[in-house]
Amino acid sequence: METPRSVYVHVPFCRHRCGYCNFTLVAGRDYLIADYLKAIEIELDKIKTPIEVDTIYLGGGTPSRLPPQDLQHLLSLLGNRFRLVADGEFTMEANPDDLPGEIESVIRDSDINRVSLGIQSFSQPKLRSLDRDHDLPQIELAIDSVKKIVDRFSIDLIFAAPHDSLSIWEKDLSYGIGTGATHISTYELTFEKGTIFWNRKQRNQIHAPTDDHCVAYYEMAIERLRDHEYAHYEVSSFAKSGQRSRHNQVYWSGSPYLAFGPGASGFMDGVRYTNHRAVKRYLTKVLNGHSAIEESRVLSRREMAIDQIVFGLRLIEGIDLRQFEQQTGYQLNNLVPTECLDDWTEANLVTLESDRLRLTSRGILFADTICSHISMLEPPGPEASSPSDPNHN
Ligand code: SF4
Repeated sequence: METPRSVYVHVPFCRHRCGYCNFTLVAGRDYLIADYLKAIEIELDKIKTPIEVDTIYLGGGTPSRLPPQDLQHLLSLLGNRFRLVADGEFTMEANPDDLPGEIESVIRDSDINRVSLGIQSFSQPKLRSLDRDHDLPQIELAIDSVKKIVDRFSIDLIFAAPHDSLSIWEKDLSYGIGTGATHISTYELTFEKGTIFWNRKQRNQIHAPTDDHCVAYYEMAIERLRDHEYAHYEVSSFAKSGQRSRHNQVYWSGSPYLAFGPGASGFMDGVRYTNHRAVKRYLTKVLNGHSAIEESRVLSRREMAIDQIVFGLRLIEGIDLRQFEQQTGYQLNNLVPTECLDDWTEANLVTLESDRLRLTSRGILFADTICSHISMLEPPGPEASSPSDPNHN
């Protein structure tokens, strides 16, 4: 078995489901927390010898929704199986509503050294339009609290929300910069099928902004954040010097990692696996002695190489093609037709210089379209890709 260097744990609890959210979670059902912790323990029991890792990430859902004693319990379960290296990164996602409070001391006394705050906006009407519960005074309290317990914190901000405007977004960015966050992630609001927002959009009760508007929001973020020394290092991610997310780099580089909890996806020994997404089903399966895994697939060499292109292109520095060829055994034009590359180069979307392929500043604005096109490219001939149950212990 490959040695994983990273671990992801999904904590699926939220107060309510926000209208735009399609993540794996249960809303207002905290009575399931005890069963969840039992299930996580069963999953983790597969690890017989503690593993040294570089990064751990508690995501959700809302990990900070766990009552302090339950968070403490989860952390001790993880601490028994994983040893974080001396300069390791341990991130926990938190909602501004949950800080400050008793949870502070649990975080302070743990290995958690980075908090990712789901702020989304500092504008009250925009937060309401996003179905978020917190308000500006709560955000300020949460930021003060986070600064007391960790040196590194990231904030998430959303643009192109209903009733959003460039002037609201400009204030969100200024406020976000003013918090002193070491890392800022910006996301365009998306309308995912099955969400309340998607249904409202279908009924014309809510309107998605035009592509031109979205580009204007995004360009403003790039400009403002760069002006304040946040390096734009990935399509959605900006970091102060030395503050890039190490955990995300593991995903982007195609390195192996373990994942636990409902809906969590891991990648080990060339197998991508995903746990049961429906929380109740995940709990029933695991607590009754069945596998947590709902689906798993051996990725072909070609699929792994395509993933590396897609993730690599999302990095602003792009892809070192010599290194790519050494790692994957593929040349770029064996995977992406030369006509596509020529068209994108001509349209000033990608550039190829000194064996490095990267998106241009215009291409960054269309990263999702380009990457999804590459993901859907058909192989020239059939390649083996069979289902398998990964042994990720
Ligand atoms: S708090 Fe976050 S994870 Fe929970 S429902 Fe809202 S957007 Fe989704």
